[in-house]
Amino acid sequence: MRTVWLNGEFLPETEAKVPIFDRGLLFAQGVYEVTPVIDGHFCNWPHHSARLTRSMALARITDDTDWPPILDELIRRNGLTEGRIYLQVTGGAPADRDFLSPVEPVPATRFAFTQAAAVVDQPKAQEGMRIVLHPEGRWALRSAKTTQLLYAVLAKEAAREAGADDAWLVDDGMVTEGTSANAHIIDSRGVLVSHPVDHGVLPGISRLSVLPLARDMGLTVEERAFSVGELFAAREAFITSATTVVMPVVEVDGRAIGDGRPGPLTGELRQRYIGRLRAS
Ligand code: PLP
Repeated sequence: MRTVWLNGEFLPETEAKVPIFDRGLLFAQGVYEVTPVIDGHFCNWPHHSARLTRSMALARITDDTDWPPILDELIRRNGLTEGRIYLQVTGGAPADRDFLSPVEPVPATRFAFTQAAAVVDQPKAQEGMRIVLHPEGRWALRSAKTTQLLYAVLAKEAAREAGADDAWLVDDGMVTEGTSANAHIIDSRGVLVSHPVDHGVLPGISRLSVLPLARDMGLTVEERAFSVGELFAAREAFITSATTVVMPVVEVDGRAIGDGRPGPLTGELRQRYIGRLRAS
């Protein structure tokens, strides 16, 4: 059984309980981070920490947990070598349900757990992912990593029902991002096009690291939204996230992207980013 961390205590997962009045549960007033773990180390912490601080400010959550020693200890206690760490901070558990936060602040609820999973050797990196397009229907402040994830859950379910691996969201003909990943193409000119970081997408930590690696490879990078038409004409398409790292997309709505196989530039970006994670 996993050991998890909740509000200052390491506990067996079945003993970690949160009150029903928790504002994360009642109002989705919660923010979270997911970091990859490779070779027993969690990665990219300064970036995750900065995004957590921004998400908490937006969600009006105050907390100053010193996470790195907790995450190190969780990895140690669970013997994790590869996978991810999930951590969440919510608005806490006042004595009763009220939309407004209590005037006398209550402590934030904080927890973290590990998940063992392949990061380096994922079969989908060889096969490529099949994606369906889905209307963008999430709230406007997508730059915060909040637990308001119902729309992403529904879009992923729709993708599964269509026999695909995931969905990309489309707003007025332009792709915003995946349900839990940033979306990118190598367009028909060989330019890497990636949605800019604004409130329309989550500023992915993997994206933040991968775009400079693409520039190092000599690729031109344009940070702008791309249309569905550009996507279908693209040479390559891929996603980035803590869970998938860099993952090729080979099919969208049943149509092949490029030659329908994982693209060579995507493959090189994946290898370079894994190398960077290992070295960090
Ligand atoms: N976009 C969304 C909506 C996400 O949920 C995620 C990650 O979960 C990402 C992008 C990628 O972010 P990161 O690279 O920090 O994992």
